[in-house]
Amino acid sequence: MGGTRGSYLKRRLLKLQVGYLLSEGPGNSKVVPICLPQRLQVANDLFLESLTGNLVLTRTKEGILIQGTLQVGHARECDRCLEAFDHEFELGVAELFASPPDANNSVFSVDSNGEIDLAPLLREEVLIEESYRTVCRAECRGLSAETGANLNHEEEPLLVDASPLEGGLAIDPRLAVLKQLLT
Ligand SMILES: [Zn+2]
Repeated sequence: MGGTRGSYLKRRLLKLQVGYLLSEGPGNSKVVPICLPQRLQVANDLFLESLTGNLVLTRTKEGILIQGTLQVGHARECDRCLEAFDHEFELGVAELFASPPDANNSVFSVDSNGEIDLAPLLREEVLIEESYRTVCRAECRGLSAETGANLNHEEEPLLVDASPLEGGLAIDPRLAVLKQLLT
């Protein structure tokens, strides 16, 4: 996890100028690399840690077809143990941005400046991808139903509190029983 959580790239970067492609005939295409390996705002309620990959933009009769696979990094909470982790996954994209706008063909369209905005599409796709259970790792053991403790950390010694620095005042309850037997 980077140390730059305070700053982020603006969602403006998710707008692509496609006017040049529109003025070309159907069938023309262009590969557009997306390289945003930093924290990025996608929507008011969605920030990604990274977004990279290639998109193929193809001029069709209906507008601009966007296809490709993006690698997404999203800092979120594990649904099982509630710890923060970077969820990294691949997002397949295949969407028509209609031009002129055509609600029957697509909810997305090329705007009057000849731009397409990937942000609403990305937000939708990421939310769908993460709408089912997302865990920090397949073998995540989650939280103890009794204590709420993270069971992933259970192997770690629980007696660290009884450190010598505290002058032996902190005695593990199990040891306290032994002490009583001894005295
Ligand atoms: Zn977990």
